[in-house]
Amino acid sequence: MTSAVVVGSGPNGLSAAVVLARAGVDVTVLEAEDEIGGGTRSAELNVPGVLHDICSATHPTGVASPFFQSLDLGRHGLEWLWPEVDAAHPIDGGRAGVMFRDLDRTVEGLGEDGEAWRSLYAPLAAHADELISEIFGPLLHVPKHPILLAGFGLRALQPASWIARRWKTEEARGLFAGLAAHAIHPLHRPTTGGLGLMFGMTSHSYGWPVAKGGSIAIADALAADLLEHGGRIETGHRVTELPEADIVMFDTAPATVLQVAGHRLPGRVRRPLSRWRTGPGVFKVDFAVEGGIPWANEWAARAGTVHLGGTFEQLNAAEREVHAGRMPERPFVLLCQQYLADPGRSVGDVHPVWTYAHVPTGYTGDATEAIIRQVERFAPGFRDRIVAQTTSGPAQLEAHNANYIGGDIGGGANDPWQLVMRPRMSPNPYSLGVKGLFICSASTPPGGGVHGMGGFNAATAALAEL
Ligand SMILES: Cc1cc2nc3c(=O)[nH]c(=O)nc-3n(C[C@H](O)[C@H](O)[C@H](O)COP(=O)(O)OP(=O)(O)OC[C@H]3O[C@@H](n4cnc5c(N)ncnc54)[C@H](O)[C@@H]3O)c2cc1C
Repeated sequence: MTSAVVVGSGPNGLSAAVVLARAGVDVTVLEAEDEIGGGTRSAELNVPGVLHDICSATHPTGVASPFFQSLDLGRHGLEWLWPEVDAAHPIDGGRAGVMFRDLDRTVEGLGEDGEAWRSLYAPLAAHADELISEIFGPLLHVPKHPILLAGFGLRALQPASWIARRWKTEEARGLFAGLAAHAIHPLHRPTTGGLGLMFGMTSHSYGWPVAKGGSIAIADALAADLLEHGGRIETGHRVTELPEADIVMFDTAPATVLQVAGHRLPGRVRRPLSRWRTGPGVFKVDFAVEGGIPWANEWAARAGTVHLGGTFEQLNAAEREVHAGRMPERPFVLLCQQYLADPGRSVGDVHPVWTYAHVPTGYTGDATEAIIRQVERFAPGFRDRIVAQTTSGPAQLEAHNANYIGGDIGGGANDPWQLVMRPRMSPNPYSLGVKGLFICSASTPPGGGVHGMGGFNAATAALAEL
């Protein structure tokens, strides 16, 4: 029987393990931490019963993932829950750009900029599944929908600042900036437009749901599928030497691949992996908040995700500072209120509020006050409602997940080259150039996010090699 060891139990590692186990391979997942899940874990952090997501919060790529859909993870307890508003982007003065799953409602809310929003996103949403089948894998491939992909690609390669020229209002421009800023990269740089397109497309096709009972439900469902198909998981097992198996699949950063298996890799693979650059970091604060957040804008109070950075220009200025290695005074802050869709995460009127700010790689300062000030800016009185808070800077994030080097949660800097050639230029970027050795983490296509597609694609490549 063919044997496989998967190093790491993030969503990509577990997905790879599921594909292999379903194909009859004898699979063992080795996880360094004491619990599974990597970037999809949840815990009661500061108030008993109040459930926080330690990493991922909102799952547009999870619900849209062709692989997750194919597994029917609902059988193993995964249930998606949608907030009324996918994302709100407050602007000073109580205004906000608001993105609903319903495109018409979004268009209406954006007033004079609404039709320009529709003309950008309606064609993408109408062909979301075809586009996702093209872009959730390696860039170098023979497309099934070449015209569609070419149209998307020409726009996606543009800087977000170019695409944003189609809107006049601060609300629409800010809303788009917030989507594109998930790249954690300055918005005047090429390819940042692509993430703005992708996140809007997923909103208007699948919406931005949370997982009922916390993001750990995603890992638990994948693990249940794996066990059902004969796989095993060992936690508390950090891999430092190459395991003996026919297939070894790394759900890790390229740096870990080099430490563990670098001596086995051919130069054409070792060199790009050694050159792989980490991106800026994040600083996370999980609040327990009594009575919820007193947003100045009513839609922000109903939004699963709130992007806090102000206007396009203000947000881009913050991203530029971070990219230059400096901590901005007003960083871009992502805030999620998962409890709106999943009330079971709260205790009485005390609710979990998930935030992180973009910070320079390896930032050693404390961004808590900067995050609170950004929330206060759009929700005066927030500070007085905080009951408890738990902070995790880049060092703590990395201590709990070796993949988050310097606090980089995206599997590597999303600069134009690394965004599309992950982790190297090849039609099979999952192969490490030696029979049986593969990488499947967020440092491979399609990149960061909970979707399992890196794992699915890498395991499919491994089976093809067999
Ligand atoms: C704060 C934060 C917020 C996020 N928000 C979102 C969000 O809202 N939506 C979204 O879709 N995505 C979000 N993400 C990103 C998402 O979590 C990741 O992109 C995703 O988890 C990557 O999956 P992965 O399987 O590639 O790796 P990971 O989930 O990082 O898992 C890698 C696993 O490998 C293990 N490992 C590493 N080295 C070794 C070793 N040597 N031996 C054994 N095990 C090892 C790690 O412990 C870890 O469990 C967020 C991430 C963070 C940190």
